[in-house]
Amino acid sequence: MAQFVVIGLGRFGFAACLELKRLGNKVIGVDSRERVVNQVVEHIDYATSLDATDETALRQLDITRSKAVLVAIGENLEASILCVLSLKNLGVEQIWVKASSEAHHTILSRLGVTRVIHPEEEMGIKVAQTLNYPMVNQYMQLGHGFYMVEVIVNKLSCGQSLATLLKRAKGEIKAVLVQRGKACYTNPAESFLINEDDKVILNGQLKALNSIALKLG
Ligand code: ADP
Repeated sequence: MAQFVVIGLGRFGFAACLELKRLGNKVIGVDSRERVVNQVVEHIDYATSLDATDETALRQLDITRSKAVLVAIGENLEASILCVLSLKNLGVEQIWVKASSEAHHTILSRLGVTRVIHPEEEMGIKVAQTLNYPMVNQYMQLGHGFYMVEVIVNKLSCGQSLATLLKRAKGEIKAVLVQRGKACYTNPAESFLINEDDKVILNGQLKALNSIALKLG
């Protein structure tokens, strides 16, 4: 079982803890506020109240055994940076950090953390994408103009084969997976008949996906 440490148990850190736990991981939570730790402790494997800028205190957590450490110390830039330096000194390799400003981002990049996260901006982009493509449930950018989207099939497309549907797209599209209730059909054949409410994961370029998503969803 992989172990993750989440430092800073505000709304973002707490949500990350719960999801990491739900995904079957061992989760350790850290926050300087005792009250916050007490709220989280029953949902994860271990939670402790300590100052995450204190390297000696962090060392006691056996933190280097973790697959990754997520630093979610909100607005306190100084604490966030000191915590990252302590994690680096302890030899933690995978450090993901929530940034609160451009300056914070720049410093974290220079420190060589694995990933800098901007939750508000990233969520804003996701919401805008969903507003723009309401028929698309999930939307993932793969690079080089390729995307992966999840479309929930509507009544009109029910009973048609994937081949019939996909040939109407303006460009090449591949169906990667069909999810029907609890069943998952990977690499479905072109003859696969889709039902209403099936979730279809499609891969292709945006223009082509857009043309088909409008017909499917
Ligand atoms: P969010 O927007 O996710 O709610 P917050 O800024 O409210 O973010 O949460 C950040 C958390 O980080 C708080 O619970 C705070 O107590 C914690 N925190 C701040 N400084 C430290 C520190 N030096 N050590 C450990 N936890 C800290």
